[in-house]
Amino acid sequence: MGDDTTARIEYLSRALKAPRIRDTAERLAEQARDGGWSHEDYLAAVLDREVAARDASGAQLRIRAAGFPARKTLDDFNFDHQPALNRDQIAHLGGGVFLSQARNIVLLGPPGTGKTHLAIALGIKAAHAGHRVLFGTAVEWVARLQEAHSRGRLAAEILRLRRYGLIIVDEVGYIPFEQDAANLFFQLVSSRYEHASLVLTSNLPFARWGDVFGDQVVASAMIDRIVHHADVITLKGASYRLKDTGITTLPSARPENTTE
Ligand code: ADP
Ligand code: MG
Repeated sequence: MGDDTTARIEYLSRALKAPRIRDTAERLAEQARDGGWSHEDYLAAVLDREVAARDASGAQLRIRAAGFPARKTLDDFNFDHQPALNRDQIAHLGGGVFLSQARNIVLLGPPGTGKTHLAIALGIKAAHAGHRVLFGTAVEWVARLQEAHSRGRLAAEILRLRRYGLIIVDEVGYIPFEQDAANLFFQLVSSRYEHASLVLTSNLPFARWGDVFGDQVVASAMIDRIVHHADVITLKGASYRLKDTGITTLPSARPENTTE
């Protein structure tokens, strides 16, 4: 390429807010000449790289914006530690069809069995697939809704959250809610029903959610909407955190207190 053309491409790619195109165009030009590509093949290859790079940086932005407490992936998940788990089901969920169908996922099980890990991993997959994701614990979600409510902005906040393809609510049940909190949470669940997905995790079986929300009626109405279109996955066994410690039980892992 002549110096003029190089300078022009540099200027034009900056004007397009795609400065990477300059390097790609230069790099691929050589390959194209050597390989005898058509002009169309060359143009398509340059644009292809740009789109791939944009998708990747979009995914990184969405992952950062999601507020995950850690980065976990399905690849890091050791299925041997969860022999009862259906790998095909998890792989299918990782494909993200549940998001376009506004289906939910509920991960139940005692502490340390990988509920948060799987929730984050599915969230990261969703971000890669182009969905906006927000992660929070149940306590954080309630605080957020209470704050919006106190500013008279609850309806607007709930509407805004509908723009997120996936909302993850971690640790339902660790801390019981006040009744007004249960109502706020119910509104969040209702607003997403058949519109957008939720992933929830809990150490308690549904039968105990009434105690958490301080209201059996609200809890059952909520569970009804959550599970109507949902995969409910129960994780089992000892905590992965204690795997190499020799400790086999935790006080909170007694069968009467958990989903075990
Ligand atoms: P939970 O949310 O069920 O209490 P976590 O998902 O936070 O448990 O898991 C606790 C820790 O153990 C995390 O660091 C997680 O990555 C890891 N972990 C749990 N289960 C597995 C697993 N099957 N394979 C790999 N890491 C796991
Ligand atoms: Mg957890």
